[in-house]
Amino acid sequence: MEDPRGELNPFQEVCLYFDGAAERLGVDDDLRELLRWPWRELRVEVPVRLDSGRLKVFVGYRVQHNGARGPYKGGVRYHPEADIDEVRALAALMTWKTALVGVPFGGAKGGVQCDPDEMSQGELNRLTRRYTQNISHILGVNRDIPAPDLNTNSQTMAWMMDAYGQLHGYEPGIVTGKPVELGGSYGREAAPGRGAVYCLQEYCRLVGQELSGATVAVQGFGQVGSWVARLLEGAGCKVIAVSDVRGGIHNPKGLAFRALLDHVREGRWVAGFRDSEPVTNAELLELPCDILVPAAVGHVLHKANAPRVRARIVLEGANMPTTPEADAILNERGVVMLPDLLVNAGGVTVSYFEWAQNIQEFRWDEERVNEELRKVMTRAFQEVYERARRDSLMLREAAFEISVERVARAVELRGFV
Ligand code: GLU
Repeated sequence: MEDPRGELNPFQEVCLYFDGAAERLGVDDDLRELLRWPWRELRVEVPVRLDSGRLKVFVGYRVQHNGARGPYKGGVRYHPEADIDEVRALAALMTWKTALVGVPFGGAKGGVQCDPDEMSQGELNRLTRRYTQNISHILGVNRDIPAPDLNTNSQTMAWMMDAYGQLHGYEPGIVTGKPVELGGSYGREAAPGRGAVYCLQEYCRLVGQELSGATVAVQGFGQVGSWVARLLEGAGCKVIAVSDVRGGIHNPKGLAFRALLDHVREGRWVAGFRDSEPVTNAELLELPCDILVPAAVGHVLHKANAPRVRARIVLEGANMPTTPEADAILNERGVVMLPDLLVNAGGVTVSYFEWAQNIQEFRWDEERVNEELRKVMTRAFQEVYERARRDSLMLREAAFEISVERVARAVELRGFV
């Protein structure tokens, strides 16, 4: 059967947007080639002693895409589909994301092909340590700074920091997204979701739309989605559906949100929550609502379901949730696409604040973090919106243009070409 996700691999998908921007900007072919491909790709074997006594060898990657604007920066994901094409694509996306919000970092990504749902905490600790050891020679506070991503969290970062420290000495700035107790920043956990909400609020302000009262469906109730849902609910929206890997729940009148948070805290999954009907992850994407937030894995909106999406706005909390074919269909249908590299950049923005705090050995309070984040996200959104309006572009096209322009300029200034 034909894969509705299309024929391009994830890296080719990012290149499609990059090439469009480079073409419109008139970037010459040589520079384009330099900007397209990663600077360095590392593949490592990660042998882990499982609780059963068996030794299992996982495969891990760290891809450093572009470091012209600063140290390489990007998360590490644990997922069965974290292969080289996926990690390479996400590393490239980080290059464009950091440039777009103007933090002084390049782009990187890491991944280990594993299914963390089937692993114990002990196994994940051993996996993280071995992976960190095996990539540590290309990391550094001024070289490459990992962070959490899909299925990794502040605990994973604590293990990474510890494993790196065993080899090189105490260096809290080697990872971001650490627990606050170990030098993490206040507000880092909520930052991707908070940044997404700041974007949406700025969009509504610019087009003169009321956010309060809007209905919202969120796919993924993890580090990004749960915060988007919580903050939108606080802004007066009605969250009508949420889901996690096990499936979702729906109530067109709105979910009792406080009680839902307690339900998830106790039982981990959203399924079985009172006063709601079960929905699958696929069904959730097609529910009637004002704002759809894909905030879990990539490629969930594809050419087969894009014609059936009934939301007016798609707020891309996840990285690459929409295939280029689906993006074209949704644009054509007048659905407003608020793109990932802008929407979820709050995570790396507060990572930058965390890194800066670590280097200065000084801590900001949460209010300051959130206020600085609001300034960065609002300004980035305005720049994208202005460019899109000026040149009749989609927001994603405008975002890529601004990023490619900045990274191209940095490469030129360094004198590579
Ligand atoms: N994994 C997050 C992202 O995709 C955060 C990266 C970081 O903070 O370095 O943007």
